[in-house]
Amino acid sequence: MSLEKMKKNLKNMSIKGKVFLYLIGFCSILLILLWCFQIIFLDKFYKNIKIREVKNSAIEIAKHINKDDLEEVVEDLASHNDLCIEIISANGTRIKSAEGANQCIIHRMPQFEKVKFFVEAEEKGGEMLEHYDANKPKDNVYEKDKVMIKEKDKDKEAPKTIIYSKIVKDKEGQQYAILVNSMISPVDATVQTLRVQLYYITVAMILFSILLALAIAKRVSKPIENINKSAKTLATGDYEVKFYGSGYKEINELSDTLNYAAVELAKVDGLRKELIANVSHDLRTPLTLIGGYAEVMRDIPNENNSENAQIIIDESKRLTTLVNDMLDISKIQAGVQKVDMKEFNLTEALNEVINRMSELVKKDGYNIKFSYDKEVRVKADGPKICQAFYNLVINAINYTGNDKSVEIIQVLKNNMVEIQVKDRGIGISEESLPYIWERYYKVDKTHKRPITGTGLGLSIVKSIIELHGGQYGVNSKINEGSTFWFRLKL
Ligand code: ADP
Repeated sequence: MSLEKMKKNLKNMSIKGKVFLYLIGFCSILLILLWCFQIIFLDKFYKNIKIREVKNSAIEIAKHINKDDLEEVVEDLASHNDLCIEIISANGTRIKSAEGANQCIIHRMPQFEKVKFFVEAEEKGGEMLEHYDANKPKDNVYEKDKVMIKEKDKDKEAPKTIIYSKIVKDKEGQQYAILVNSMISPVDATVQTLRVQLYYITVAMILFSILLALAIAKRVSKPIENINKSAKTLATGDYEVKFYGSGYKEINELSDTLNYAAVELAKVDGLRKELIANVSHDLRTPLTLIGGYAEVMRDIPNENNSENAQIIIDESKRLTTLVNDMLDISKIQAGVQKVDMKEFNLTEALNEVINRMSELVKKDGYNIKFSYDKEVRVKADGPKICQAFYNLVINAINYTGNDKSVEIIQVLKNNMVEIQVKDRGIGISEESLPYIWERYYKVDKTHKRPITGTGLGLSIVKSIIELHGGQYGVNSKINEGSTFWFRLKL
């Protein structure tokens, strides 16, 4: 199987399979370590530990060579560590001795042999370590045995013994040799036992991995499978579906997110239905009017007057506004429109919009007031900002009260310019406030004329200001009026 294919297979593996794979991997590493340490290197470890023990004992004795407690220390070390210890003078005379191990060699050695240890250790710089076969004759021919046994040392069956000799001097300058003899029992029997144990452990661990993998996978994959099932139901358009996560933080979070997504989708779906209702209503009314008036004008000669023609013109304008708004919002939200950031005089641009609108609404008695401290320049997309501003002013005109006045204020706040559009009209209820920025949202869903909005105005404002990284908001009280505002960075 190629590497690519293996990678792909691994990617598509079920949780069960992966957990099992990881557990088996983990167990294998553990088992390899166990086999290495318990079987392969056990002999080496054991020998090294013994050698260190023997050397440390000799060092400890050397420290006490001039002290009164020497005998006590020698006895202590011998009995605690199963060692045979002898301190001899240069001519092989035994000064101190303790026998803590069976099969001790040094206590059965003739004096002249011990002298050899002394001499050899001295020649080798004060210390020497020799390995022997403990089963070999001990009375004579040590030299010969030594050679022979050293060669045989590779034979793991033979019980070994080590003799460590260390030369020390007392305070009078007299030299002594500390001979420490320790048995190194063969570990083969132990290794055999451990090997059998490890076979059992290996099988047990593999079984355990399988069971654990199954248990973990069941606990982890079950909730995911449930979520998947609910997601499929959601995909069919059932927004009532609930996601239940259990046991795990991530899965709980996922189900919370999906529950949230389902609520949002339900909202979008609601909006979509409302949009169709709104748009068809908004399109149908002017179309019916246009068709009706046109027919009347054609069929009844007296009705062919400018008033009726004006109605047709007004209604077609309404249609144009609706279609334009829909186009704008879809372009902005599809990310097609990019902001063209250029520095321009914001105050002047707003003033122009106000003047143009004042001209249009003057005849209906509307009054738009604009106040500002000084002219400000901002870096933004001028036409878009004007469009957002225009939408706010149009709303204020549409929803203002009997005083028919709209107040616009430009203020500077912490490196930002804030534009407020105030009216003293019907205001917006607290429940509606969070939704007015959504597409096609209308507080009054009865579509009373003459207030005919598209339900898109504020959503366009929101998108434009967000594109500029600005802030926007509204303060409103029912029957007292509303203040819509947006802020741009200076
Ligand atoms: P519309 O075209 O219907 O005005 P908008 O997105 O501009 O759509 O506004 C959404 C809703 O917010 C409106 O239907 C209206 O109920 C409410 N609204 C907007 N501006 C004002 C205002 N100045 N005073 C009261 N209500 C407002």
